[in-house]
Amino acid sequence: MTHTITIIPGDGIGPEISAAMRMVVDATGVKIDWEVQEAGADVMEKYKTPLPEVVLESIRRNKVAIKGPITTPVGKGFRSVNVALRKALGLYACLRPCYSIKGVRSRFSDIDLVIVRENTEDLYAGIESMIDDDTAESIKRITRSASRKIAKFAFEYARTEGRKKVTAVHKANIMKCSDGLFLEAAGQEAALYPDIEFNDRIVDNMCMQLVQKPELYDIMVLPNLYGDIISDLCAGLIGGLGIAPGANIGDDAAVFEPTHGSAPKYAGLNKVNPTALILSSVLMLKHIGEKDASDRVLNSVKEVIGEGKTVTYDLGGSAGTREMAEAIATRV
Ligand code: NAD
Repeated sequence: MTHTITIIPGDGIGPEISAAMRMVVDATGVKIDWEVQEAGADVMEKYKTPLPEVVLESIRRNKVAIKGPITTPVGKGFRSVNVALRKALGLYACLRPCYSIKGVRSRFSDIDLVIVRENTEDLYAGIESMIDDDTAESIKRITRSASRKIAKFAFEYARTEGRKKVTAVHKANIMKCSDGLFLEAAGQEAALYPDIEFNDRIVDNMCMQLVQKPELYDIMVLPNLYGDIISDLCAGLIGGLGIAPGANIGDDAAVFEPTHGSAPKYAGLNKVNPTALILSSVLMLKHIGEKDASDRVLNSVKEVIGEGKTVTYDLGGSAGTREMAEAIATRV
């Protein structure tokens, strides 16, 4: 069977790591018809939008996409393409497994955490404005329905993956209404899953706990902003953004992408680590039912990193993006 998958190379380092990922996935022998679609700053001129409708149509049709990072201008210019994509396709769940890989330098060696981040609301809804010259306002909107939906996703994921505990992360002591609602909704969902342990943590305390005793945690479910921040914290625990994969999942489509951004200063240098996107393809292959190929890619990544000979600068080596991907593809 041939799978048709949309691929968005993205900006900055995106095209290099996308080519690297494609080489590795093609080495599995799984038949994939890659439908290349462009989004981001470079297509602005041609389409007058950084997210052309044709890209969304392609993902809606194929139901699966994998993408490189896309730059979001700070303060001015277009809003985030990534946020718009997640919203337009109803990709309500951002899944980011963070696990230690032998051979990666980190103060921690046994991390096994999963982040489940709500992807559609909270401060990312972009409801903000200048009230007057002195005052800017950003609205944090949380709904019971979206909060229950993301909590259900976390509990269902726990069941399918044989995991034991879900922790809801919030700041309900201060934002009693919005985060209070998120926490209440997570608790309502938890009651339907008596086989999975449930607890909650205030987000600042969660940051400290993750650094001091990460082994106490398993799956975390969080509103959008805390999920974004804790994702980078957890990437730090496992040795950096270069190895942190992710997926955005909805009822009708899924888009796989690394946690990291477009790292513009490294663009075109054949320098950055392709692993985060390659590990995102591990999630993608599993999602499309190619479990054996998914396992082979994961094991090959682990072997190449474990050996430490053909790895990029962030893992202490001197290999380029392409060379590291070739080493992984050869094992696959
Ligand atoms: P970034 O993740 O792009 O890079 C931060 C630093 O992390 C880099 O300078 C580099 O040292 C390291 N790093 C990142 N990826 C790496 C890799 N693959 N290998 C080795 N080291 C790596 O974060 P930033 O600089 O804050 O963001 C750059 C742009 O990316 C911004 O415009 C931001 O909005 C965008 N962004 C996009 C996405 C996405 O497309 N989903 C996600 C995050 C950020």
